[in-house]
Amino acid sequence: MGIKSTAAVWTGKFTTKILKLVGSGGTSLPGKVVLKICPDILGHLAQDMKIICVTGTNGKTTTCHVIRDMIEANGNTVFCNDAGANLLNGVVSAFVNEANLSGKIDKDYALLECDEAALKSIVQHFDKLDVTAVVTNIFRDQLDRYGEVLTTVNKIRAGLEQLPNVKLVLNADCSLTTSLNDLSHSEIYYYGVNGPLYEGTSSDISDAVYCIHCKTKYQYEYRTFGHLGGFYCEKCGYKRQAAQVGLTSVIQWKDASSVVEMDVFGNNMEAEVCLPGGYNLYNALAATTIAKLIGLSEDRIVSVLGGLTTHFGRMEQVKLGEGMLNLVLVKNPAGFNEVLQFLIQQKPSGNIVFGLNDNYADGKDISWIYDVEFERLTEHAAGAKHFYFTGKRAYDMQLRLKYADFDTEKFSVEKDYKTLITQLHQSGEQTFLVLSYTCMLEFRDKLAEFVPLKKYES
Ligand SMILES: [Zn+2]
Repeated sequence: MGIKSTAAVWTGKFTTKILKLVGSGGTSLPGKVVLKICPDILGHLAQDMKIICVTGTNGKTTTCHVIRDMIEANGNTVFCNDAGANLLNGVVSAFVNEANLSGKIDKDYALLECDEAALKSIVQHFDKLDVTAVVTNIFRDQLDRYGEVLTTVNKIRAGLEQLPNVKLVLNADCSLTTSLNDLSHSEIYYYGVNGPLYEGTSSDISDAVYCIHCKTKYQYEYRTFGHLGGFYCEKCGYKRQAAQVGLTSVIQWKDASSVVEMDVFGNNMEAEVCLPGGYNLYNALAATTIAKLIGLSEDRIVSVLGGLTTHFGRMEQVKLGEGMLNLVLVKNPAGFNEVLQFLIQQKPSGNIVFGLNDNYADGKDISWIYDVEFERLTEHAAGAKHFYFTGKRAYDMQLRLKYADFDTEKFSVEKDYKTLITQLHQSGEQTFLVLSYTCMLEFRDKLAEFVPLKKYES
């Protein structure tokens, strides 16, 4: 460490202290200050560590959680950035917090959740380091964030291009993600689901209909959800690659887990994945690929997958009086459709709460809820007692479900979280709460006045 980088670390730590003293939870300011003093600080702080970056539209946070458990099960040490701090400043702050005063970090791995657009700036000084990058999938996020999915592909590509020795772990089922395989200098591993996950998979593949190379419409041998599946292009031959870690079958779906069979680098493996919903199986597969690459034994992989707890995976369970609240975060149509698939399996008989805000982090333009296929849930949610709508755009959400032919007799709009929580408490029913990002934060703040809650991990 040079004088400049050490000074940067000191200043960063000092800034963090001051922010804590004045009661500000801001994570980006220390990073900003540090980068002013030493623009290549990450290269200095990371030089003796192995780096794992996780990027992509959906599943980053859960994938990081599972990878973290895998690394620790291997007897290695690891630190991560907080889920809410996945831009450059947040990552820098995480490194500075972890460093001692001489700028040394005593951990084997840095596990970094990276926003797709920020990947390039985060990894730019990692070119000489041992970096593995996981790309979970690429979906259209809320309409007004990054525009087209191809822009997202290009942003991730721009990041990876800076890493001549990167090991890439790609979702084989995502045609957009797989297209990163033309980064010829990379060592590439694929994970995916080798057949359809469930019956009646959504027909909406609007995020990637046409071949990324020749614009011909993709054909599919099977689909899992959205545009994910066994895609191929008849014209140019671009197609899904065989997965080194492939899910071969789901033996049993349970409430908050599933028992699956996987082909892991040629070995058959059975495991219970203790995460709810089919979408989380992808996250488990990504983490399993990393686990194999770092040398974790298959027994240990099975034990990590079986020991994941339910606050993982954008699904948090909170006991409220006699009832149980299941909180699920939604942030885009693809993720929402997966949550609906989960609800279809659950056949809810208590309450469902839909919460929608239109702050920046939720997406200012809420028309994306019309890309969510609520119609598929209508019949399966017919046994629910009550549908609540909350958040700034509660009425828009209510209207969307009216169009989806839900029973409007069971509708209520309740924008006051305290009143809503009181009603849920009194009902004593199991409740699924499906909330957009800032709505989740606000709701949890209020809920914390009723029951003890863990710090939120999105
Ligand atoms: Zn093609």
